[in-house]
Amino acid sequence: MLHKIQSLRNLTDSTYIIRLDKNNFDFRSGQYLSLGLPDDSNMREYSIYSGSNDPYLEVLIKEVKEGDVSILLKKTKMGQALNIEGPYGFFTLREEDIENKQFLFLATGTGISPFHSFVKSNPNLKYMLIHGIRLKSETYEKEIYSKQNYFSAISQDSNGNFHGRLTSYLKTFNIVPNTLCYLCGNVDMIHDAYDILQGKGIPVDQIHSEVYF
Ligand SMILES: Cc1cc2nc3c(=O)[nH]c(=O)nc-3n(C[C@H](O)[C@H](O)[C@H](O)COP(=O)(O)OP(=O)(O)OC[C@H]3O[C@@H](n4cnc5c(N)ncnc54)[C@H](O)[C@@H]3O)c2cc1C
Repeated sequence: MLHKIQSLRNLTDSTYIIRLDKNNFDFRSGQYLSLGLPDDSNMREYSIYSGSNDPYLEVLIKEVKEGDVSILLKKTKMGQALNIEGPYGFFTLREEDIENKQFLFLATGTGISPFHSFVKSNPNLKYMLIHGIRLKSETYEKEIYSKQNYFSAISQDSNGNFHGRLTSYLKTFNIVPNTLCYLCGNVDMIHDAYDILQGKGIPVDQIHSEVYF
């Protein structure tokens, strides 16, 4: 289905947000869509960044220099239409957990996108979000998370809450046993974090993951 671009905003030189008309597209926060130019079969998956009640759809995209689609999408303009398919995926929160459970969200880079949607869609969520990035400029719109809920682990500069990789910080993190853990982004982080969480006694049925690449 075609959806018109309402606006684009750049968060860094390579990372941008596309806001599109929502039309009749319903989704659960945490799901992703498939996005591409009209009449182009080359589409890519993007987690939905906006909240499920927002009157628009947003995606947060990092341009991959050696890639195909993320570069083309960065060149699009307001008013242009893009092709969307979906929604897809099961990286969602169970209704009964939203009120009662404590969540730990682990993201690398744009893997923060589904967590942004969770938080916007469920303002009373009890969560801790640990964001693994290279530079402070990649803390993408962190103002939406309250200060005590957002923690940056920054590997290439010392301007974050922790200087180093997300997984190094996770090793030192005290986790409450019933916490539900959601991991999103790079596959290496997800593998390592999985092992660390299991080592801390978190059972596999409390760990959910979404691999980007
Ligand atoms: C379920 C799902 C949800 C996703 N959600 C998002 C999202 O919200 N935001 C987002 O930016 N991307 C997301 N991705 C990745 C996205 O689908 C594309 O892979 C990415 O935009 C690159 O596409 P491309 O056509 O430019 O490059 P391609 O030609 O597809 O890939 C080129 C190379 O870049 C690698 N690559 C892909 N993504 C990255 C990255 N972020 N950093 C470094 N290397 C990368 C690929 O593995 C490949 O080796 C998601 C992927 C999946 C499977």
